[in-house]
Amino acid sequence: MQCEDTLAMTTGVIRNTMDRIYRTYAELITIPTFEERYEYLKSNSRVGSPTFGFDRYLNQQFYLCPEWRETRRKIILRDNGCDLGCYGFEIHSSFVIHHLREITADDVRERRPICFNPNNLITTKLQTHNAIHYGDKSLLVVAPIARSRNDTCPWR
Ligand SMILES: [Zn+2]
Repeated sequence: MQCEDTLAMTTGVIRNTMDRIYRTYAELITIPTFEERYEYLKSNSRVGSPTFGFDRYLNQQFYLCPEWRETRRKIILRDNGCDLGCYGFEIHSSFVIHHLREITADDVRERRPICFNPNNLITTKLQTHNAIHYGDKSLLVVAPIARSRNDTCPWR
């Protein structure tokens, strides 16, 4: 099962058994830098895994449902519209909400809490999201950060 923009990507990702079982937002935000957060989140999913034919339809239904739209809005607000919730990494393109623990077709079908739990969600932008799912750091766009006068972020 996939996050909302991944329709164009490989479907039916299979988790590597070495992968972390439960990543959480609560843990993620204790990690100071953007790149370290990426490393924490990056998936070991392999491109070319078997696909599930129903996923696309299920995905589309899910990401259009009011409950998801509302959850999505809250997560973007919580993360201040910043990529991986990192201050200074404001997203100016479109937002993609990533599930830290991948949700399954059954999770979606039954609208299980894991789909909507804020502790399982983080705001990203498309490039970052692709990098997470492909486990490919070279896809990351770590642009030079324009500092502002009131930027007190201690780790950049
Ligand atoms: Zn995702």
